[in-house]
Amino acid sequence: MRRLWLPGGLVLLVVLVALAAPLLGLPDPIRQDVARRLAGPMPGSPLGRDEFGRDVLSRLVWGARASLTVAFASAAIACVVGTLLGLLGGWFRGLGEFFAVRSMDVLLCFPPVLLALLVVTLLGPGSGTLILVLAALYLPGFVRVTWAEVLSARSHDYVEAVRALGAPTHRILLRTVLPNIAGPVLVQLSLAVASAVVLESGLSFLGLGVVPPEPSWGLMIRGARGTMAQAPLLLLWPCLALSLTILAMNLLCDALRDAADPRTAPAAPPRWVDRLLPGLLPPPRADAVLSMQGLTIEIVTPRGTIRPVEDVSLSVRAGETLAVVGESGSGKSLTALAAMGLLPPAARPVAGAAWFQGRDLLRLEEAEHRRLRGSAIAMVFQDPMSSLNPVHRIGDQVAEAIRAHQPLSARAARARAVDLLRRTGIADPDRRARAFPHELSGGMRQRVMIAMAIANRPALLIADEPTTALDVTVQAQILDLLAGLQRETGMALVFITHNLGVVAEIADRVTVLYAGQVVEEGTVAEVFGAPLHPYTAALLAAVPEGDGMAAGIPGTVPPPQDLPPGCRFAPRCPHAAPACDAPQLLAERAGRAVRCTRADELALAA
Ligand code: SF4
Repeated sequence: MRRLWLPGGLVLLVVLVALAAPLLGLPDPIRQDVARRLAGPMPGSPLGRDEFGRDVLSRLVWGARASLTVAFASAAIACVVGTLLGLLGGWFRGLGEFFAVRSMDVLLCFPPVLLALLVVTLLGPGSGTLILVLAALYLPGFVRVTWAEVLSARSHDYVEAVRALGAPTHRILLRTVLPNIAGPVLVQLSLAVASAVVLESGLSFLGLGVVPPEPSWGLMIRGARGTMAQAPLLLLWPCLALSLTILAMNLLCDALRDAADPRTAPAAPPRWVDRLLPGLLPPPRADAVLSMQGLTIEIVTPRGTIRPVEDVSLSVRAGETLAVVGESGSGKSLTALAAMGLLPPAARPVAGAAWFQGRDLLRLEEAEHRRLRGSAIAMVFQDPMSSLNPVHRIGDQVAEAIRAHQPLSARAARARAVDLLRRTGIADPDRRARAFPHELSGGMRQRVMIAMAIANRPALLIADEPTTALDVTVQAQILDLLAGLQRETGMALVFITHNLGVVAEIADRVTVLYAGQVVEEGTVAEVFGAPLHPYTAALLAAVPEGDGMAAGIPGTVPPPQDLPPGCRFAPRCPHAAPACDAPQLLAERAGRAVRCTRADELALAA
């Protein structure tokens, strides 16, 4: 909301000054005084007089009334009518869509000045005519933007979910679709208001808008043009007023768009102690490639600040594989994105440190982070299809990843790209390099993503569920490939997954996350052999063995805004007791870490 203050204040100031014009005691903006023609600043006329001896300040303030009335009224009419037509056309499709969208195409065929001439001829010049012309000119923009956004929004799951609940159409459109398309519509509104102020000036300048002697900024510019040589300042004042108003409107609409979308809300600033006393941050583990300690991520939402990741510590050494496991919503991916410097705009790390090669990744400038990404640290995502550019050939994309960090010629980079494709097990790499992503299988696309990730020999590779979208055979091949590459290059590997079968196959150590916190950490052999935390035990029990059925974990991970006050796993834990009502701390137990007050007791009972 704070981002609204400055632009909102500016726009409010301009509007208030324009509205208060009759109360300001300014000279009559129409009264001529030829004896003082083009006079400079003088008592009672701080901006001087124009070519007819009229007070410039008074005309500027009264002119704002005409210019802003035309701009706001025309943009508002176009916005309301256009959004309504676009909403209905995009939602109902069919004939409504045809008439709403095609009639706008016809309207767009008219050149603006020709349309203005036509309407002025029919209705006569004046502010009302101008509002009508401008509203007609901006209408197609609103219809098309809204229509395209509704077409995209109607296929989203959240819209389907509301439809499945049986909500009436008007409620879906107003409560679900409209808030989600408000951003682009507001941007269009800011453009329309700014453009209407300029067009009002232009059309008034041509004699098609506000009728003299009524003042408007356009008429002031028109009048000042003839006396530019003798009194250049006469041109400056209306142009300045015009530019400032347009700038303020653009800023206001941008701020409104951000305020309407909670995903772009700014996160809370870092704690003052982290900012002022960075020496208090925990030091890195000496032998770790990545040493993350106490990471806490906050997101500001309209309903308050949430912490989807809290006090997460993990570390991985060169040549080692650390598996980070947990169900959806446990904070695995956010933790990885924080290390990559790729957190969404609304999320911000507010505490902790992530040491990598002597630098804290959480406090790096974006330029520094960009230099590290793709070279020293690389990441492989879950869905290779959406991570690869569909219109570029595979070889070009791998070559581009190499050239982003190495000064190689296009030919050398391409040869290197083919070699990388071969190393990742792609048969006939020369031919495959010329293929587009859609011509490859899912497994091959993931191999391409891995080739891009290792192109610059990273010290750390973060793989975020890289095998989830693949079938079991291809999954095993990709795991073999990653293990082979790791042996070859000695890179550290952080493997994010919810699949404990994969962890047993590939990882040396495992960190278990639940509801944004580490609940258990240790070597795979220890943790899988004798889990200390009931959640780890439940995850292991959920892995199907042989032909047996997996036992699912009852309940779901609580959302960050609705966490239990004590142990976060308590509502699902079969061992919950009164002692679990207190917040749980991560405690060392025989070289492992566990967040459960009853861990010893349960281990003895087992
Ligand atoms: S603290 Fe209590 S509720 Fe939480 S995991 Fe341990 S036994 Fe279960």
